Amino acid sequence: MIINMRERATEAELQHVIDRVKEAGYQAHLTRGEERAIVAAVGSGGRRHELEALAAAPGVDGVVAIAQPFKLVSRQVKPHRTVVNVGGVQIGDGSFVVIAGPCSVESREQLFSTARAVKAGGARLLRGGAYKPRTSPYEFQGLGVEALWLLAEARQETGLPVVTEVMSTEDVDVICEHADLLQVGARNMQNFALLRRLAKVDKPVLLKRGPSASVKEWLLAAEYLVAGGNPNVVLCERGIKTFETETRNTLDLASIALARELTHLPVIADPSHGTGRPSLIAPMSRAAAALGADGLMVEVHPCPERALSDGPQSLDLPGFSQLMRRLSEPLRAVET
Ligand code: PEP
Ligand code: MN
Repeated sequence: MIINMRERATEAELQHVIDRVKEAGYQAHLTRGEERAIVAAVGSGGRRHELEALAAAPGVDGVVAIAQPFKLVSRQVKPHRTVVNVGGVQIGDGSFVVIAGPCSVESREQLFSTARAVKAGGARLLRGGAYKPRTSPYEFQGLGVEALWLLAEARQETGLPVVTEVMSTEDVDVICEHADLLQVGARNMQNFALLRRLAKVDKPVLLKRGPSASVKEWLLAAEYLVAGGNPNVVLCERGIKTFETETRNTLDLASIALARELTHLPVIADPSHGTGRPSLIAPMSRAAAALGADGLMVEVHPCPERALSDGPQSLDLPGFSQLMRRLSEPLRAVET
């Protein structure tokens, strides 16, 4: 339920409402808007009629049910957009933030040459996998902690905050020591133990949509993070499984527009995994920018044919700078 406060409600009236929500057996989450405050009562097992009765409390404008199954991430609870600060880079403030780097960190030389090139091209964050979720156990699994050290060094040199995937609760502490944004990969979107653990860290989380997850399931996964105590969540659409096999996944652009309607959290697109084809990255990136996405995540490698993971979908260094030039041109509806 949402308790909407009146414009001129006093702090004492607000505190009274928060106390009553807790007494009724719910968690109280406060959102202060420019004009009025909203108290969201969430949880299970509370006494709903006590919340409904708060309509009569001083300073309360009305009590309404939250229409969606996800609560704290819904725009009903927080109408203004969340801006997530990633090591000084703001995601969700109306700018278009490009995250770029290799699928996996493979060596110092590979990471640093990519980091310098993406920085020169205008990327704001550096990505690189240290712990890799691979379909086959015989494929490259990532350099682990050594990759984290290299990422931290690359941040030191370039000033770009770094993003890397956390696959397991066991790795959360060491990744938090070195990274600025913790990625939950598509395969782990509904790893609830991991989400609960990441709700307790003081680093922002990039939550990728599962390949077979509905938008509702994706937002409910985000709800685990926010309800558990971490409000700094960025959503990433990375393509879903469909009958189409010409592209690796189907980048669901409508889901980005829909997610931005339903939630106040920033939403970015990953056209690399979303298409699997370098030639489609620029058009899909421009489409994502045109529909209001808050940014992009793209895979870049100095020599894609030698990459240990996701080479076929990676841009090379000139390809990345060309993408950035095309993104800075005025957006046209039709690609030429
Ligand atoms: C990745 O970002 O390299 C990755 C493994 O992504 P996803 O979880 O979307 O497959
Ligand atoms: Mn990848």
